[in-house]
Amino acid sequence: MERPLIIDKTAADLSLPPHLTDAARAAFSWSAVRAALDGLPGGGLNIAHEAVDRHTRGPLRDRVAFRFVARGTELTYGDLAQATNRFANVLTGLGVERGGRLFILTGRIPELYVALLGSLKAGVVVSPLFSAFGPEPIATRMNLGSASVLVTTPSLYLRKVAGIRGQVPSLRHVLLASEEGFDIADIPDVVDLDDLLDAASDDYTIADTQPEDMALLHFTSGTTGRPKGAVHVHEAVLHHWMTGNYALDLHDDDVFWCTADPGWVTGTSYGVIAPLLHGVTSIVDEGDFDAERWYGILADQRVSVWYTAPTAVRMLMRSGADLARTREFPALRFIASVGEPLNPEAVWWGKEALGLPIHDNWWQTETGGIMIANTPAMPIKPGSMGRALPGIEVAIVRRVDGAVEPVAVDEEGELALRRGWPSMMRGYLGDDDRYRRCFVGDWYLTGDLARRDADGYFWFVSRADDVIKSAGHLIGPFEVESALLQHPAVAEAAVIGVPDDLVGEVVRAFVSLKPGIAPGATLHRDIIAHARKRLGAAVAPKEIDFLPTLPRTRSGKIMRRLLKARALGLPEGDLSTLETASPETGADHDH
Ligand code: AMP
Repeated sequence: MERPLIIDKTAADLSLPPHLTDAARAAFSWSAVRAALDGLPGGGLNIAHEAVDRHTRGPLRDRVAFRFVARGTELTYGDLAQATNRFANVLTGLGVERGGRLFILTGRIPELYVALLGSLKAGVVVSPLFSAFGPEPIATRMNLGSASVLVTTPSLYLRKVAGIRGQVPSLRHVLLASEEGFDIADIPDVVDLDDLLDAASDDYTIADTQPEDMALLHFTSGTTGRPKGAVHVHEAVLHHWMTGNYALDLHDDDVFWCTADPGWVTGTSYGVIAPLLHGVTSIVDEGDFDAERWYGILADQRVSVWYTAPTAVRMLMRSGADLARTREFPALRFIASVGEPLNPEAVWWGKEALGLPIHDNWWQTETGGIMIANTPAMPIKPGSMGRALPGIEVAIVRRVDGAVEPVAVDEEGELALRRGWPSMMRGYLGDDDRYRRCFVGDWYLTGDLARRDADGYFWFVSRADDVIKSAGHLIGPFEVESALLQHPAVAEAAVIGVPDDLVGEVVRAFVSLKPGIAPGATLHRDIIAHARKRLGAAVAPKEIDFLPTLPRTRSGKIMRRLLKARALGLPEGDLSTLETASPETGADHDH
């Protein structure tokens, strides 16, 4: 069936406030956003105050903030205010000071949300990690962030942290949330979080954090070197409010489901903060993807706004239209997606299977919140990421002599954002140089290549660097290569992403072996098992190719792009210019 290139909105779609009409766009100001929030006496600003305590003065106090579907438990805004006060008091009791670093390694359990918001109340910097990470990425990140407190569960602690705890000298306190089948008293050098919460006071005066105080630390990956810790501050809350309003259209009678884990920035900005700012009830599903259960949640929980990811949409598509037809979704009124390119078929599938098209939007860990979006008030061009949100200036540029200049409409270039929006990262922790390299003048270069059309819609082309996007996770090849090199048989390793219909890209490794070691099925299995154990299944390669040696540039850098061209059957000649590209011509995308 031939499908139109534009999905128009109905007059009813476009008339609902607070949609981003051209008039709203023209009238937009950050000071108006700031005025919608409370602030703290004396000019301070605290994300948790705006997200939680601000609502407890009025009728929202008794509204459900989080509903944990598997356990059948709920936290109202009032409950959350109280539990986070207790958590902040626990931190004070442990002597954790403002600016201290607290890491969270849990599934999507109530303690995660309480610890995250309670830390923000106390002015403690919080960094949620993916519980799917293996011990190595956990240790690397806790060391980069100088973790002093870790909140986790007994099973995760015993499987992933106990063995590397000695490698993280800054870690002073490990707080364990209770878990069936474990007696925390039997585990040495840890504290029972629930005991501490039970003993803590309900009263707490929020720390007088300032807008520029560090609030959150989210790790992301580049092509080379260690993971990067993107520093986010309390002022980001303005952006979370703005995008919750214009990009996700959240209202306080909505039931909202963000399927992302808070270990990924989406799961924090939009799985925790933005919905709370708008007084929404959020659904939390602790389980992994399961098509039938997901349709059940959308239908039974009467989800009205759904924020998900292309891999999940493609998995639903794969599970077949018949399954979608077993349920009805009368409450659903807006669907958005982020994290990877959303194919036009997926946008249309939404319309056909769920009754609504899927609205793609774009952002990244560094930007702290949505930058480009298909908003409710805009016709959708399936395959496009949408238009710049208000307050955000986006350009497609090319680098020329140390500066950037805009390219013509429809021409491909680097996606750049003019610095100055509230949720922009304030630095890569401990790596000023890498941070500075992201900017040319006032422009932040995102590392993505894209086009803009004559209507101001942006179209994703590809990454400009070698990072891999697999099922929405950004994976740095260097981290995977480093783990592979620790295997006793491995001499050299290079890691690339190869296209995959379902998850976007899968991680594939090329390995050369030490002299005298022969490749074989057993060794193949053993190296994959080694990588999974250290890195976790989400990050480890799915496939390994043995090669006698790996191709390198004259300066000794392994040529991942040549390996990729060969793996994909592309002409190798295409890559000759890349081998010799100098930094001045824009080869340095690794910020
Ligand atoms: P992360 O920092 O892990 O959120 O990854 C950010 C990167 O994901 C971006 O720089 C893009 O490469 C990719 N990405 C995010 N959203 C989209 C989208 N809507 N379309 C295409 N790529 C996207």
